Amino acid sequence: MANNIQAIRGMHDVLPDQTPLWQYAERTLRDVLGTYGYSEIRLPIVEKTELFKRSIGEVTDIVEKEMYTFEDRNGDSLTLRPEGTAGCLRACLEHGLLHNQVHRLWYYGPMYRHERPQKGRYRQFIQLGVETYGMSGPDIDAELILIMDRLWKKLGIRDKVRLQLNSLGTIEERLVYRTVLVDYFRGHLAELDEDSLRRLETNPLRILDTKNLAMQTLAANAPALMDYLGADSLAHFNTLTETLDSLGVSYDINTRLVRGLDYYSKTVFEWVTDELGSQGTVCAGGRYDSLVEQLGGKPNFAVGFAMGIERLLALIEVAGHVPTTRCVDVFMIRVGEAAEREGLRFAEAIRNEVPGLKLQVNCGGGSFKSQFKKADKIGADYALILGDDEVSRGEYGLKSLRNDQGQQTLTQEQVITFLQEYTLQAEPA
Ligand code: ATP
Ligand code: MG
Repeated sequence: MANNIQAIRGMHDVLPDQTPLWQYAERTLRDVLGTYGYSEIRLPIVEKTELFKRSIGEVTDIVEKEMYTFEDRNGDSLTLRPEGTAGCLRACLEHGLLHNQVHRLWYYGPMYRHERPQKGRYRQFIQLGVETYGMSGPDIDAELILIMDRLWKKLGIRDKVRLQLNSLGTIEERLVYRTVLVDYFRGHLAELDEDSLRRLETNPLRILDTKNLAMQTLAANAPALMDYLGADSLAHFNTLTETLDSLGVSYDINTRLVRGLDYYSKTVFEWVTDELGSQGTVCAGGRYDSLVEQLGGKPNFAVGFAMGIERLLALIEVAGHVPTTRCVDVFMIRVGEAAEREGLRFAEAIRNEVPGLKLQVNCGGGSFKSQFKKADKIGADYALILGDDEVSRGEYGLKSLRNDQGQQTLTQEQVITFLQEYTLQAEPA
């Protein structure tokens, strides 16, 4: 019996009927980023394991249990990138891009995490990452939020997402807060679950965003990091919220938002939705100034975000804004040897003269009837019909597949003129 090989669990194919939605979202992302003057950067999918250990942090979920790490043939430890921030910064440091310069960058592509696959959580997933370097003020934090806000609006899902905002302060402020927090949780040891007991030693801030319902009240009553911020962190945060207020971007301050990755400082944010069950974070990010030095650079400033595209697309579908796309406008039917030869030539001429047209030529023969069926099935607007006798007279049949108007007989020039007008009128699909 055939033993078919299947895709790896948690890694999905995007079939042709889904690609129009992907392309629509990708176009919109590119367009919006373009209007803010951001440039694309393309990065390897595999990096040295050390890069992620050093940047993301040894005691994070990602590094502890989610990375795809392997030894290559030289015995080097490599990892499929679980996120893009570390690689992007590595590239910019390696190529000297951060020296007295300001950058606004984006990248798009697959990330890999060995998690338990479920709706909205995959082992290969696509992220849009946006990273900016060299800007210390809250104005760039605000710009990133404005980009996302504009994106939601363009994609028709603004009413489906809410912005959650917090400040993690500096590393020093966090250290002070950490001891306060550990003391608080130590006073409630009996209420901590196993995960939290472990985090109490390793990464106590993460206890705050526990998903365990039984611990929600305990977490909610914990001291807030916001109360331990220094003047500079507080001023940064207040200017950001004032800017957002003045621009009419609403947000909730969530003092328990700590993010999973170690490298954040000051501003952190997440865009969340109630429409996608427990995988409700569509986009997340924040400021990570200290990572530049951690990766060997001179002190600098960095802030960015990453968006999960599968979750974004699921939201667009929930909102019912899925674009309808036709992949073929005109289907060419060819019956007979001369018609088949002429058809390929004529199709090329049409593609030269009518560049916007999506023209598919029947291949593999078949009767007029069976070819008409194919034209119908593929959703074409028109069938262009070539038979041997007509072709010898320089005549081509054109028939609408959308209304009952009969077939017209046209010359080559008339066909081209007709199709040029058609592409001008057609709504962009
Ligand atoms: P979560 O809390 O959902 O695990 P995270 O904090 O691990 O998310 P980030 O590392 O901040 O996520 O990644 C940014 C975004 O990438 C997430 O908000 C989400 O939209 C998406 N994302 C992260 N992990 C996955 C995954 N395994 N499958 C699909 N999308 C993901
Ligand atoms: Mg995660």
